[in-house]
Amino acid sequence: MAKLTLCSDWLDVCSGCHMSLLDIDEVLVALLDSVQLLSTPITDLKHPPEEGADIGILTGAVSNDHQEAVAKRMRERVKILISMGDCSVFGGICAMRNFFDAEQVLQYAYTETDSTAPGQQVPRSPEIAKLYPKVRPLRDVVKVDYYIPGCPPSANTIAYVLTELVAGREPKWTDELLRYG
Ligand code: SF4
Repeated sequence: MAKLTLCSDWLDVCSGCHMSLLDIDEVLVALLDSVQLLSTPITDLKHPPEEGADIGILTGAVSNDHQEAVAKRMRERVKILISMGDCSVFGGICAMRNFFDAEQVLQYAYTETDSTAPGQQVPRSPEIAKLYPKVRPLRDVVKVDYYIPGCPPSANTIAYVLTELVAGREPKWTDELLRYG
């Protein structure tokens, strides 16, 4: 039987969600019997191939135009899209900046922190991703098929959802899977 193909990418993140994905340990090894990893931020191929894939995982919120393009490319190229981690599901810690003006955030980050070098300026270039006024969850930008909340989601929860999808079953949430800590 042909293996399912899986791609992942990250948007506005701390990378903890992808670390949790790696934390599923031996389940990851077992999954690789039926799943082929095509692209991830931690493999040589960084983006889903044009010919598409079965499952895509996106972590992180959408905070700039570059991230929106990454999200739309993933959506176009996969059959099932999973929004993983609180940043992706509802904005998470990234959305804390929504209490402030985006320009104010840039000025603080580049010119006012205790560790800022004297004379530092906010970098301005058309090649730099354009910061949006507000951080948005993934579902505000593309259609999402499944959500895995958590900061980060536990390895057990990620393993459960992937195992069910690979087996052709619908993942079902239980209190145990949604308990953090
Ligand atoms: S949900 Fe938590 S672990 Fe995942 S990217 Fe956001 S801050 Fe990091």
